[in-house]
Amino acid sequence: MARVQVPEADAIVDQEFSVLDHGFVRLVDYLGGDARIVQAARVSYGGGTKTFRQDRGLINYLMRNRHTSPFEQVVLTFHAKMPVFVARQWVRHRTARLNEISGRYSVMEDQFYLPDSAHINAQSTTNRQGRDHDPLPPEVSGELRNELASEQRAAYERYEDKISRGLAREVARINLPLSLYTQWYWQIDLHNLFHFLELRLDPHAQYEIRAYAEVILDIARRVAPLACEAFEEHRRKAVSLSGRELDAVRSLLGGAEGIDDAALRAAAEEAGLSGKAIERFVEKLRSGTQS
Ligand SMILES: Cc1cc2nc3c(=O)[nH]c(=O)nc-3n(C[C@H](O)[C@H](O)[C@H](O)COP(=O)(O)OP(=O)(O)OC[C@H]3O[C@@H](n4cnc5c(N)ncnc54)[C@H](O)[C@@H]3O)c2cc1C
Repeated sequence: MARVQVPEADAIVDQEFSVLDHGFVRLVDYLGGDARIVQAARVSYGGGTKTFRQDRGLINYLMRNRHTSPFEQVVLTFHAKMPVFVARQWVRHRTARLNEISGRYSVMEDQFYLPDSAHINAQSTTNRQGRDHDPLPPEVSGELRNELASEQRAAYERYEDKISRGLAREVARINLPLSLYTQWYWQIDLHNLFHFLELRLDPHAQYEIRAYAEVILDIARRVAPLACEAFEEHRRKAVSLSGRELDAVRSLLGGAEGIDDAALRAAAEEAGLSGKAIERFVEKLRSGTQS
């Protein structure tokens, strides 16, 4: 089977997609696509790509059943530029390979992330890690924004001054703030990318890394649209229920004996499910098992 080429992905290779005020994500290269996932999954019995509908069905099946290794056959390499505090969160995903710009080797660029007023919010009162949904009053956020900007300017001037006085770059940089932009090449397979996206697209993730995750998902859609569609359906938009949560849903539906299969099937159809997907849904609510 020939190398998998995806014209939609080829069309955006090397294109920079802006994120935040000075950041970007760029697809440097990719290996494989939906067709590679299908080939890898079917290798055991020699079949390759079949019809689009069958391929979509297979990819959905793999995603639904956490048969993850065929997704590892697709690899994406990105060049991304992000503030250091975003990089600190991003780098926690250990299943990628990366090369970052060296502040020992190069003078860091004078670029800092300055949130726009819409993202200058108070500390959340309900989530200890997050910020409130609404921005602070404009006069307060304006003042804070100016302060952030002048602190960044001062930090960079002091950095340049230390370099001009002969201090080594690796030492001169140590007081630069977390808002400074850094950049890296980041390579990851699609299975692990989905794990990253699931965590970093979640509303609990910080807005700034979510902005990168959204752009990365858009790029991944160009490379493997069916896999991304399956990810959205079975991972991003799905929730898992604990045992007791499932009991509560069952009890709402009338308990094990009272579940009205016909009503469940009608609701499933209304939601766009068909065929075996409807039976799987009924079975899940009845027995709590995945089939
Ligand atoms: C909203 C949010 C808030 C967070 N808050 C904090 C915080 O306050 N403090 C903090 O320190 N972190 C925090 N994190 C980071 C979090 O704990 C994880 O480190 C991060 O999300 C990466 O997840 P991961 O380890 O599953 O991913 P990856 O590193 O990509 O790993 C993927 C999977 O591979 C396996 N794996 C990879 N490497 C190893 C290994 N060496 N050994 C065993 N298994 C491995 C694991 O099963 C893992 O789930 C937060 C993350 C999120 C999304």
